[in-house]
Amino acid sequence: MTYPRVEISLDKIEHNSRKLVAMCSKHDITIVGVTKVFCAYPEVVKVMVKGGISVLADSRIENFEKIKDIDLPKLLLRLPMISQAKKVVELTDISLNSEINAIRTLSEAASNINKVHKIILMVDLGDLREGIFEEKEVFETVEEIIKLNGIELVGIGTNLTCYGGVIPRYENLGKLTDLKNRLEEKYDINLNIVSGGNSSSIHLIQSGKIPEGINQLRLGESIVLGRETAFGENIEDTYDDCFKLIAEIVEIKEKPSIPIGEIGMNAFGKVPTFDDKGIRRRAICAVGKQDIDIDDVILEDKNVSILGASSDHFILDITESNNEYKVGDKVSFKLTYGGILSTMTSEYIEKICK
Ligand SMILES: *Cc1c(COP(=O)(O)O)cnc(C)c1O
Repeated sequence: MTYPRVEISLDKIEHNSRKLVAMCSKHDITIVGVTKVFCAYPEVVKVMVKGGISVLADSRIENFEKIKDIDLPKLLLRLPMISQAKKVVELTDISLNSEINAIRTLSEAASNINKVHKIILMVDLGDLREGIFEEKEVFETVEEIIKLNGIELVGIGTNLTCYGGVIPRYENLGKLTDLKNRLEEKYDINLNIVSGGNSSSIHLIQSGKIPEGINQLRLGESIVLGRETAFGENIEDTYDDCFKLIAEIVEIKEKPSIPIGEIGMNAFGKVPTFDDKGIRRRAICAVGKQDIDIDDVILEDKNVSILGASSDHFILDITESNNEYKVGDKVSFKLTYGGILSTMTSEYIEKICK
């Protein structure tokens, strides 16, 4: 067996997917399953699909290569790079867009291969990441898009709680459905999709305050961590430990709490400080900052704490643990969203589906 490793519970991912699909379908909302946090690892994508997810989304073209055999609509989340237009229309069916020049390039690329690429136009409701901010520009852009060949405008969407931390509410999301109605009327078009955000919109479903007309959510974190992200609450009857990091102990020694000698910079250019707790029993694990930040792990043994980390080592205080750890034993951590992202991206970490 190889360590460090991420162990992925396929049953738990399937369970979480099924729960969220059921929750959203009560409000006629389709879930787009977001796969970027686990780099679209195909075995994981397949159980999301088994759990009822019917559209797949990722931010990176490379990830769509891995799942091109899965026969479901694919949606590109990150605004397309003009330089990747050809790949975008080859590997995905729908993309989120806000720039008319990028859309023109997609139009050409799609026409060249006799495809029709679908567009969801992104509107910025105040979070200040992607999307058109001025309503006038939304109308102007729609007017241009509907003239293009190889492109079908299928809806409008928004993204919140990513850069600005803006919380989705009835008031701001309601603007999106209102805008959709006015666009349909003015241009005599059908916009079938109103894509109302990410896992931060779940709380509106739970409280019954999701505006009528929002019919799609793009969900990543709520599936992999069973968490809504407006307030960070766990979603009832879902798992928060679908992904676990397991690392091996390579040293256990009793040592003082304070280093001996004059203290200068550590390996990361910072001058460290220490609390004197006397002699402590310490364990070193073979996993480090190159793999994951210590703020992104949650120790499963509640009586162990993390003292620090360097590129390839985590240093743990195991003095208070009820477990009799020995060298060669394994330590298990739950992961945050950032933790899943970095461990799944690291080529040094084995990925095991269970
Ligand atoms: C990552 C992403 C999502 C998914 O966000 P979660 O908080 O993981 O649900 C949705 N939409 C866009 C545009 C994204 O980039």
